[in-house]
Amino acid sequence: MMPRERLRIAVQKSGRLSEPCFDLLDRCGLRFRRSRDGLFCYGDGEPVDLLLVRDDDIPGLIAQGVCDLGIVGRNVLAENAAARQTALQCLRSLAFGACRLVIAVPQDMAYAGGGSLARLRIATSYPNLLRDWLSANGVDAEIVTLAGSVEIAPRLGTADAICDLVQSGATLAANQLREVDRVLDSEAVLVGSATLPADGRRDAIELLLRRIDGVVRVRGSRLLLLQAARASVEAIVAVLPGAPSATVLQMDGQPGQVMLQALCADELGWRQLEAIQRAGARELFVLPVERALA
Ligand code: ATP
Ligand code: ZN
Repeated sequence: MMPRERLRIAVQKSGRLSEPCFDLLDRCGLRFRRSRDGLFCYGDGEPVDLLLVRDDDIPGLIAQGVCDLGIVGRNVLAENAAARQTALQCLRSLAFGACRLVIAVPQDMAYAGGGSLARLRIATSYPNLLRDWLSANGVDAEIVTLAGSVEIAPRLGTADAICDLVQSGATLAANQLREVDRVLDSEAVLVGSATLPADGRRDAIELLLRRIDGVVRVRGSRLLLLQAARASVEAIVAVLPGAPSATVLQMDGQPGQVMLQALCADELGWRQLEAIQRAGARELFVLPVERALA
């Protein structure tokens, strides 16, 4: 493999993770031009390019050195680790793509713990994670590995139960299945090979990690600004949601009056603002927070 100077990140070409991935990279200040065949995105500015592929191919591409980093669900990373295929490391959790890998059984099947699956056939696209879960629970069952459409296997009679990803549970319900046990909680993660490149790409990785931290840490946060009498500060801080630490500034020429600012982890709805106002605040402003640098 030719040595590369530019950092290359593998992301899902089209699927649930694609849009939030592009959004995250955009918030990190990375801009791209897409190649005509849609395989690459070339970075404008920072020395970072993207490779657009199927999510299942990402661990292998990193292991082969075709890419340095990738964004996949923790489920893909964990299945890969359970298969002992490649040594990858999780660099960051990205707080999107939340879902869970669960055991689901037909709605009318009794379930009293893993033992109820003994000698049954369980369909899944995650045979290694399922094998480990079954053995951790001391259950002897048959694993039926399917590449997709796992949720229809019980209706087709090719399996008795399934182990599949769910988010809302609507797909399970539509297939007359119910969730009975949880194998893994997942979200999107940034992964890299166990040993990261030591050359110039290292700087690009560090820049990216710093910026991702600056975006993910404040995602969904709001900056609250308000004015109040100094005597009301304690009462106001007591009703701030999530108990953030507040900065109190003396207002010029107005003794006893302060300006307060606090970074709140949540949205700050009208009811919360009204409670803060009743505690003595005036001139309340709620600002979105886009990025942070410590
Ligand atoms: P590809 O063509 O890239 O192989 P795919 O069908 O394997 O696509 P998607 O269905 O787009 O993949 O899911 C990508 C990832 O999104 C999953 O690996 C998982 O981490 C996450 N995800 C979030 N919610 C769900 C869900 N309800 N069902 C499946 N995956 C989900
Ligand atoms: Zn896939």
